[in-house]
This record gives sequence, C-alpha cells and structure tokens, in this order.
Amino acid sequence: MSKYVEKVLADVKAKNPNEPEFIQAVDEVLTTLDPVLKANPQYEKNAILERMVEPERVIMFRVPWVDDKGIVRVNRGYRIQMNSAIGPYKGGLRFDPTVTLSVLKFLAFEQVFKNSLTTLPMGGGKGGSDFNPKVSPHTPGKRCSDAEVMRFCQSFMTELFRHIGPDTDVPAGDMNVGGREIGYLFGQYKRLANEWTGVLTGKGLSFGGSLIRPEATGYGDVYFAENMLAMRGETFEGKRCVISGSGNVASYAAEKLMQLGAKVLTLSDRSGAILCESGITGKMLKDIMVLKNVKRGELADFAKKTKAVKFFAGKNSWQLADKIDAAFPCARQNELNGDDAAYLLKHGCTLVGEGANMPSTPEAIAAFVKAKIMYSPGKASNAGGVATSGLEMSQNSERLSWTREEVDTKLKGIMKSIHDNAWEAAAKYGDKGNYVMGANIAGFAKVADAMVAQGIC
Ligand code: NAP
Repeated sequence: MSKYVEKVLADVKAKNPNEPEFIQAVDEVLTTLDPVLKANPQYEKNAILERMVEPERVIMFRVPWVDDKGIVRVNRGYRIQMNSAIGPYKGGLRFDPTVTLSVLKFLAFEQVFKNSLTTLPMGGGKGGSDFNPKVSPHTPGKRCSDAEVMRFCQSFMTELFRHIGPDTDVPAGDMNVGGREIGYLFGQYKRLANEWTGVLTGKGLSFGGSLIRPEATGYGDVYFAENMLAMRGETFEGKRCVISGSGNVASYAAEKLMQLGAKVLTLSDRSGAILCESGITGKMLKDIMVLKNVKRGELADFAKKTKAVKFFAGKNSWQLADKIDAAFPCARQNELNGDDAAYLLKHGCTLVGEGANMPSTPEAIAAFVKAKIMYSPGKASNAGGVATSGLEMSQNSERLSWTREEVDTKLKGIMKSIHDNAWEAAAKYGDKGNYVMGANIAGFAKVADAMVAQGIC
C-alpha cells in the first residue's frame, strides 16, 4: 500500500473511531487504488482522497410523530450528502433500527462510486432513520399501521424537504422504504414545496414512477452476472443458485434467474432461511412476494404451509445446499463471512454477484479474489437500481414515460457498460478479472477527474 493511502486511512480511523462500517468501506476502496494514484499524481496533489472521505454535508434531525395510541415518539433522521462532483446527490433512504451515522456514511461513500459507474450524471448520498416500521411501538408482535408509517414519513419529510430538490438531491428507497413510504414522502414534499417535480425516485406509476424500477436492482444484479458468465462462454441454464434475503432485491434477482433457466434453491429473512432442493417455483416466489410486500409476514410462516421447502430458523442461505454454482447476497451488509465463503468455494461456487451493499466481509472478499472466481462487488452489480432511478429522473424531466421494453433494454445496456468498464480498468491496471479493483478504479477516476477540474471545493 502506498504511503499516501496509508496516511489517509490512518486519518479516517483516527477521525471516525466509532464508525466501523464507514472505515470498512473506505478501506475496501482505498486499498485497491494504488495503480491509478501512481499513474495520476494530480490526485494526491489535489487531496482527492482526503476530500472524498469527508462528506460535503451531514444533516441530522429530530423526527417527532404521534402513534395510534396518541403517544409522542421521537426518532432520528439523517441525510448524508457525500459528493456532488458529477451530479446532484442521489441515493436511497433506509428505515431500520440498525441505522447509524456510520452505516449511512458507508452507504453514501459506496454510492459515489456506484453512481459514477452507471455512466449517468449522479453524485452520491444516502439517508434514513432508526425508525422501525416492522415493530409497533405499543402492541407486541404487531407492525406499525399504515397511518403510523404515514405520520412518520410526513414528519421526516417536513425537515428533509428544505435540503433536497430535483437538481440538488434526489432520494429513493432502500431497506424498509418501498412504494408505500415513497408515496407518503412524495405527497408531503409536494405539499411543502408547492411544486410537482421528480424529487424522489421509486414513485408509483400513476405519479411519475418508471416501469422496471422495482425490478431493476435484482434484474441488474443478474444481468451483470450474465456478462461475467459470457466472458467464460457460460449461461445460467441449469445453474444452482443460492440467494439471501426475500425483499425487493432478492425477489427480483430470483425471478430473473428463473427466467434464465437457473434453479433458485434458497431465500432468507430475519426469521431464517428456506431451502428447496428441486428449485423454488414461480408460484412459490409469487406467494412469497405477496407474503413479504402485502401481508408483511415471515418466511417461517411460508415454510409451515409449504411441504417442498425446509426451514432453518435463524440461519442464512450459505451453508444449506450441497452443490452450489452461484451465490447472490441480497439482504444486508456483512452477511457473508469467511466461513460462509469457504463453504461456498468448497461446494462448487464459481460466481458471487452481490445485490446488497457490502454483504461480504473483508475475509470473504479476500477468499473470492484469491480463488479467482467471478466475484462482483455490490457497487458494480447492484447499480441497476440507481441507474433506473436516473432513467426515472430523465422521464420526469421530459414529462414522458418509456415502455417496459425500452427501460429494460437501457438497463441491460448500462449493466453491460458497468461490467465492461470494470473489466477493462482491472486489465489496464494489471489484475485482469478482478472486478473489485476494476469497479473501484473505474468509479473513482471519473469523480476524481471532475473534482480536479472543479478546483478546491
Ligand atoms: P428490503 O426489501 O427491505 O429487503 C431486505 C431483506 O433482508 C429482507 O428479506 C430482510 O428480512 C432481510 N434482512 C434485513 N436485515 C436482516 C438481518 N439482520 N438478518 C436477516 N435478514 C435480514 O431491502 P432491499 O431493498 O431488498 O435491499 C437489500 C440490500 O440491497 C440492502 O443492502 C440495500 O442497501 C441494497 N440495495 C437495494 C437497492 C434497491 O433498489 N432496493 C439498490 C441497491 C442496493 P425481513 O423481511 O425479515 O426484514
């Protein structure tokens, strides 16, 4: 590692001692950049790394709301505006009790490189709250009601609206922020700003949403993996795949894999994992999507009613099946560790396509890179969601709606460009096939060049 990178990493650790996720994300990117930093001394001269690890702005605010029993509740809201060198801040909102400044700074940092990779003009940001829509604050075993979620979203947007705008910062969904939440947030923004603009993406189709946006992250993850397979002359036909999660990204990754002839063996959630040796069917997946998105239930409930699946309480998807060709971590950060990686490699896995953000621990990443399997980091392979958000912004600006086929074709084209750029950057800087290094360098160079051109700001 160069002295420059060593020094910036040491400063990040000293300045942010209570932010382990942020430090992990910075470490993962910076330790791959030496070749491009050496070839471009202007980056160090302009303190590009020092500036990239410092958010342009962090907004933290109180979110008071009233529950159905009339009790006042208070949550914490955040927006991290990380980097606007190549476009307005863009990145999702996460509502989850695990949300902290560290988690959101890691996600915002990743988002900068991801958005750059999409080839669209979008800067990086992320936000959210420690609000938990999945747990009622007053009735054990129940979820927040729709009315409680609406009141929370309205209060959250009452502060956030003054910091965002279609040319400033355009949030979207993330964990626990789906169509329902985006609708409530958009309604409140419109009311406060007195204007109808594409200030949020992931909107409903009747008010400016884009076709394929819900599917885009999961589909994009699989399209990226298809490109990796194509480099080795392979396809998904007959491949045995394990997926974690059963939310937005996991379910659409599963759908696309099935369409391409793969067998999806597992899905998971906080209650545990299901294994179906003969492959989860289209009908099962539809039922799971209704269970998770409409009834807001658990896979444990699904397993009780479905004989063809085995349920493993509290387990993740990685160490359940005997023969595995490909793995898709699509739930959350650090969900696949060194032991899981060793199991996957031992049981035949030659492809890992990350749908979630930073789902593999540093030990797991090192094992995949060492084994030279097809391993794509989330910032490259899950960029289809934000790319389609970019397409939603374009449609809103033009006051047009593209067809499903048009958006899907553009998504496929963007995922191929991301794949090819990462592949070429890795080859150019001496580590052919290393998509971690390739994605980091390709994403970094575009932002760094823009920052150099814009002077010290
Ligand atoms: P989601 O719809 O909320 O689904 C998240 C899934 O992960 C759910 O199945 C959830 O289980 C599971 N999960 C969460 N925490 C868990 C835990 N502690 N233990 C076990 N399972 C857990 O979220 P999503 O939109 O699919 O996002 C998933 C990942 O993809 C995140 O890392 C997100 O940042 C990333 N991502 C999403 C998008 C997008 O467009 N949505 C784009 C890029 C990246 P429960 O249902 O039981 O909660």
